[in-house]
Amino acid sequence: MSTYVTANPATGQIEREFTELTDAEVPQVLSRSTEAFASWRTTPVAERAKLLTRIADAYDARKDELATLISTEMGKPLAEAQGEAALAGAIYRWYGEHGPDLLAPEVLDPQGSDESLVETAPVGPLVGVMPWNFPYYQVARFAGPNLMAGNTIILKHASICAASAQVMAEIVHEAGIPEDAYINVFATNDQIADMIADPRVQGISLTGSERAGASVAETAGKNLKKAVLELGGSDALIVLDDGDIETTAKIAATARMSNTGQACNSPKRMIVPSDHVDDFVATIVREFDAAQVGDPTDPSTTVGPLSSVTARDNVVAQVQRAVEQGATLHTGGDAIAGDGAFMRPAVLSGVTKDMDAYAEEIFGPVAVVYGVDSTDDAVTLANDVSFGLSGSVWGTDITHAQQIADRLEVGMAYVNEHGTTLPGLPFGGVKRSGFGRELGRWGMGEFVNTRLRRTS
Ligand code: NAP
Repeated sequence: MSTYVTANPATGQIEREFTELTDAEVPQVLSRSTEAFASWRTTPVAERAKLLTRIADAYDARKDELATLISTEMGKPLAEAQGEAALAGAIYRWYGEHGPDLLAPEVLDPQGSDESLVETAPVGPLVGVMPWNFPYYQVARFAGPNLMAGNTIILKHASICAASAQVMAEIVHEAGIPEDAYINVFATNDQIADMIADPRVQGISLTGSERAGASVAETAGKNLKKAVLELGGSDALIVLDDGDIETTAKIAATARMSNTGQACNSPKRMIVPSDHVDDFVATIVREFDAAQVGDPTDPSTTVGPLSSVTARDNVVAQVQRAVEQGATLHTGGDAIAGDGAFMRPAVLSGVTKDMDAYAEEIFGPVAVVYGVDSTDDAVTLANDVSFGLSGSVWGTDITHAQQIADRLEVGMAYVNEHGTTLPGLPFGGVKRSGFGRELGRWGMGEFVNTRLRRTS
């Protein structure tokens, strides 16, 4: 049986099974992608930009249909799914608009008497491995800049998102991008490893877990291929002494429940002055208890199912283990009976360094609240994890909050907001959250040949 099977996580109902790539097709895919590169790289930049804008138009025009598809495929509440389709479109539009400038050759100040020109040239076929939690957005972050740059793409999406993967390929091709410049594959992990090892492939970008990242990075390293890795996170949200506890707690609760807590950059750890922990927890509990957990296609739903029953059971087990190890559970954390992958959002406090919940990523609607006695302790706690994706600092004295934000070991530090993602801003982390950047001009700079042409 194929591993590419879609099932509605709200009902457990199997929807469709998709035929996997055969081993014999792997070299064919590589040849097709390589041949397409020869002509795609020489397609005028303005033409590539126009086609990207057409992709953006399609995302806008098909927003509702695309939203319904992922709501039933991975359980994202409809309004959030519409927002994601719009964001994916905005990313393609941004690269269509800014790509030509970013790719323009740069004449350097005279270095000696001759002309030195730096070109941003494409490198060739790339493999992209993407996760299910933001099916459209993750692919756009990879495909937008790389198609614009003139690279060709072999895309392996998460096996539970095969239907949206197919629709994304359809949108790209209908916009006029050549069939083989973007090839969607339902590949196994071994086939992906074979592709990365093949000399025709020039790079790999993976968004997903540390386990998957380590596996593809190992193959990439052995074969001297560049890899961009966007991995897990356990972001801290720090409220300073002068922060507004009630307002920040409400915003934090909404952010933590967004996408049913399944976001790499969700504020998973909330760090507040000890004096205010009780008030902060009380507000988060109130907000979590008021969440409408249910069918993601029902507009009144605010929290959908997790991506699968297995994913839900894992998060419930993490909460139970934290309690067994001595943490306090204030609300939720239990599976909701029935066939769907639902759970009640949970709030934990009293998590200490010896507990698993202190160090591990909890990929579901669970807030862990910590009390600290000083700002220094808040920073130490925030940085005391293996991840370094993003973090936020909340307070009234902006200069002070910015100084604290500067001390966070993260790729994205926010003040009085958390997790803002815009097409022109860089996205990525440090430590075990990965390396490389997506979005903006930084995303365009990962898989290009910064090529000198000097003429005497
Ligand atoms: P996952 O299990 O690692 O899956 C991600 C993708 O990697 C899927 O397409 C998966 O395919 C594939 N994969 C898994 N093992 C592989 C291997 N050995 N070789 C090649 N491909 C492999 O991750 P997930 O559970 O879907 O996503 C959750 C994780 O992603 C969390 O840790 C989250 O924080 C992280 N994430 C990070 C970012 C970021 O930007 N930093 C964004 C979103 C999510 P199958 O589906 O076929 O297994």
